[in-house]
Amino acid sequence: MEHIKLGNIIRPCPVCKLGAEELPNRGRLASEIECPRCGQYSISSTAEAVLEHRPDTFRYAMSARLRAYTERGESPPMVMDADLDGYLTDSSVPRRISDRIDAFLISTHKRMGRIGVPAQFSVHDDYPLFHCKDDSEFHHFLMLALNMGLVTVGSRDASGRVPVELTTSGWMRLDELQGPAPATGHQCFVAMRFSEEMAPVYQQGMEPAIRECGYEPIRVDRVEHNNKICDLIIAELKRSRLVVADFTFNRGGVYFEAGYALGLGVPVIWTRRATASDELHFDTRQYNHIEWTTPEDLRVKLKARIEATARLKA
Ligand SMILES: [Zn+2]
Repeated sequence: MEHIKLGNIIRPCPVCKLGAEELPNRGRLASEIECPRCGQYSISSTAEAVLEHRPDTFRYAMSARLRAYTERGESPPMVMDADLDGYLTDSSVPRRISDRIDAFLISTHKRMGRIGVPAQFSVHDDYPLFHCKDDSEFHHFLMLALNMGLVTVGSRDASGRVPVELTTSGWMRLDELQGPAPATGHQCFVAMRFSEEMAPVYQQGMEPAIRECGYEPIRVDRVEHNNKICDLIIAELKRSRLVVADFTFNRGGVYFEAGYALGLGVPVIWTRRATASDELHFDTRQYNHIEWTTPEDLRVKLKARIEATARLKA
């Protein structure tokens, strides 16, 4: 309690029972509390009286729940006696240790200024963030994350602050938690055979249809005899909002690119010349292919399909 605000009263926190501040009461029935562990909240006098008789485990759960409001930057919650039991049954209390570790990684990332600048946690005040009951449990929790190889933990300073940094494994776990990076541009990947014969199909069919829908077409021309899927193709697929895949020539690379995009959750539009002689691969016959006759026919049909796909995604 280093910087007590003018007019505030020092008193035990009704929830964690450790030192907190109460804001001056201006005729309100509830007390406004600022606790370094539970954060800011208001509590009615009846709720405070009921809490007196609740077991410690109840108060730990409640402390964690209240602190989350302050951590998220939300307005302070109001604790009434009528909804006290909601805090124990709430499904937001994590049952698994791995969920608490994940929350810790996200919190560490949020508190880091940038890569190489460690997050600071107070062993005295920050333990409710991860549903620990006190600073001793928080210490063990930190050691657990350390032993899992997810973070490095520095030595604590005189005020009880410890520097925490994510390790390579910690960053990778964080990436998993955040899911695939959303494509932000308007790139449309074109997967097709780029031969002389197909040049007008691209120039008069694919490209104008894609551009007219507000997308930027990207084609990665492959050396035809080289079936190796290069990193460039994967990088461009990850950056794309949409994939148009033409199966007129039944190329293995086109199947790969369409399949990879599906795995990333990128919508794929399937096209094929109506007179194509090659049989479609069995697994992709289920997809509704645009059957086109001329480049102009492809342009009209593809444009309509892209617009319909965009509407579905909106
Ligand atoms: Zn408290």
